[in-house]
This record gives sequence, structure tokens and C-alpha cells, in this order.
Amino acid sequence: MSVYRVGLGYDVHRLAAKRPLVLGGVRIPFRLGLCGHSDADALLHAVCDALLGACGLPDIGELFPDSDPRYRGADSRDLLARVVRAVKARGYVVCNVDAVVIAQEPKLAGYKPAMRRQLSRVLGIKGESVGIQAKTNEGLGETGAKKAIACHAVALVRKGRAR
Ligand code: MG
Repeated sequence: MSVYRVGLGYDVHRLAAKRPLVLGGVRIPFRLGLCGHSDADALLHAVCDALLGACGLPDIGELFPDSDPRYRGADSRDLLARVVRAVKARGYVVCNVDAVVIAQEPKLAGYKPAMRRQLSRVLGIKGESVGIQAKTNEGLGETGAKKAIACHAVALVRKGRAR
């Protein structure tokens, strides 16, 4: 049985007017926001699934179903905190996460440090163990047309207790 395990997560949410844009636990001023049952933080959702996948746990859709009124408008940092508790309960420690946000607009570079701080705090790991990459989709496809924001994430976990 390997000591280290890797997980992959992906999420996409549609952009629409009159919705807040929250990515990586950071509220970003923009004329459009992400649609969803919770705060629709696609970045945190992708990180949740990466962690859950690494530990062989059910995905975020199974754990926090959008049919459940408890998760309406939920702060995804709380969902991620619950995932971290599930990871620990399985006997794993989070080593690092790396994520790619694909958003044609707005420019996210200035928000990356704040996103990293949020993830670092909720995951209980150092900022240097949190990677946030922001890219446009070069105008291609639905994300390129500003109809959606997509996120990919990987997470590495290790069996054992925190050092
Ligand atoms: Mg989602």
C-alpha cells in the first residue's frame, strides 16, 4: 500500500449576471458571477474532488448534493474544511495541491495571493504548498466566450500524521 496518493479534480460553473464571483474563497468584483447551489466556487470544488479522489472517498456531488437545502448558498470554504476532516479521518495528511483556473475574464493574477492564503489556511498547509495558476482559454470554446469558468486541481496526500 503506497504512502502517497494523488487525486484529480475538475469543476465548471456557468457565468451569469446577478451572481457573486467567488474563486478560491475570494470575492472578486466582476459584472458576472458563477451559478450554482452553493457559492459556486469552482476552484474550491475542484480541490475538494482532488482530495476526495486521492483518499478514495465519494466525490463532492455525492457528499454535498445540490438537492440538499443545507448547502444552498454554502460557503465552499466550509465544504473544503469538511473534506479536510474526512481526509484526516481516513488517516491522510494533505501534502500539496496545485490548481489551474481557466477564466477568460476577469484578470485573476492580482487575486492569486489571497486565494493561496485562503487555501493554505483551510487546508492547514504552507502557502508554498498551494499552487494557483490562472489562464485564459485564448478565446476558445465556452470558457473562452465567458460563458463559464473551469478549474482543474491535483492533490497529493500522505498516509500518517501531520509533521
Ligand atoms: Mg461545483
